[in-house]
Amino acid sequence: MTEPSNDNTINLGTANAAAVTGTGTSAQWLARYSDSLMGVFGNPQRVLVRGAGALVWDADGKEYLDLLGGIAVNALGHAHPFVTSVIASQLSTLGHVSNFFTSPTQIALAEKLLELSQAPIGSKVFFANSGTEANEAAFKLARAHGGKERPTILALEGGFHGRTMGALAMTAKQAYREPFEPMPAGVRHIAFNDIDALRAAMDGSVAALVIEPIQGEAGVRPLSAEYLQAARDLTHEHGALLILDEVQTGVGRTGTWFAGVSAGITPDAMTLAKGLGGGFPIGAIITFGEESSRLLSAGQHGTTFGGNPVATAAALATLHVLESQDVLGNVKVISELFAEGLAKVDGVTEVRAFGLLIGFDLAEPVAAGVVAAALDAGFIVNAPRPNTIRLAPPLNLTAKQAQSFVAALPALLETAIAAHNSEGKS
Ligand code: PLP
Repeated sequence: MTEPSNDNTINLGTANAAAVTGTGTSAQWLARYSDSLMGVFGNPQRVLVRGAGALVWDADGKEYLDLLGGIAVNALGHAHPFVTSVIASQLSTLGHVSNFFTSPTQIALAEKLLELSQAPIGSKVFFANSGTEANEAAFKLARAHGGKERPTILALEGGFHGRTMGALAMTAKQAYREPFEPMPAGVRHIAFNDIDALRAAMDGSVAALVIEPIQGEAGVRPLSAEYLQAARDLTHEHGALLILDEVQTGVGRTGTWFAGVSAGITPDAMTLAKGLGGGFPIGAIITFGEESSRLLSAGQHGTTFGGNPVATAAALATLHVLESQDVLGNVKVISELFAEGLAKVDGVTEVRAFGLLIGFDLAEPVAAGVVAAALDAGFIVNAPRPNTIRLAPPLNLTAKQAQSFVAALPALLETAIAAHNSEGKS
């Protein structure tokens, strides 16, 4: 028996090498996809093999401007040279340790997040691997706070918090929940942005209110500043936690570090993921102040991968670039450019631009057709609702790139409307 090799002369094998280099056509890969992958995402739109900045290429060599950024994840685009070099360097130094140990990148990232979120003394961070896991920690925080006496968690209609059971219980969409009932008990959904409904729902049984400052999956719908303030005041008044889900809005996406904090709200906890690792999986929950930071004690929560040295190094590198290159300043400029340009396009009825989280409504329910026409024309966008297009591009998108989509949109709409009309006739 030969000993397992420990050097880099190992041959990946022809089949694996083809996968890593992206050799093969889209049709070949797609034919294999449905035989090997669970169908939960439907048919993939394209097979992507390479990216650089805001551009990606499919297996057939076609180029796309990625205006979705992995759904608000690729904060600095694809294959950012600094982020990839920090990840590679960390991986070749220390890739993973169990949480019986810590590592400097984990500590430095926690400190950085506390600084950026202006968290008061005594605030703490727990690292997870995704948004849904960050929200599972939030769910447990609410239970730890409320116990059996205060079992209610309030969440909002239209809210999306993830697909694991606790996060799913807080997610409003019936179609996501129903097949998996019974849900974890205690969650109630109340009307979106309705202060009276919130006031009526708040009582001594409420452990926490969990809200997104801007609902991304519902089509980029913001809560008003008044609602956020009322949420803070009423949760204080009734001794409940205010938990902000900033998985989609956080880490510079809206042109500020965190949408809630920039609106003057100090929550009891805030969850993050998506853009935090610049494309590397990581999630986090920040507990604000000593009281909420003491709720989960030793042994009450945990994770194998959360806080991993590579993920935390990726996030440190991402935050460093965002901060040192004034990327948030770029977000504001490009956001305005999109807002002005999109509003002038015939057939666009409303634009909701919060930094580079942008939703725009169409006069007709042709968003799916626009997504398809955009792909053909070399743009990646998304349709969270039948008449809404969402953009969540890299935060370092250039003006030229933004303008290229605005200029292309009239033709994309025309194609989508023509396809819609001919479907109606057939
Ligand atoms: N919370 C919000 C606001 C989200 O938008 C999402 C994902 O879209 C999640 C939570 C779940 O995050 P993940 O898909 O990383 O589990």
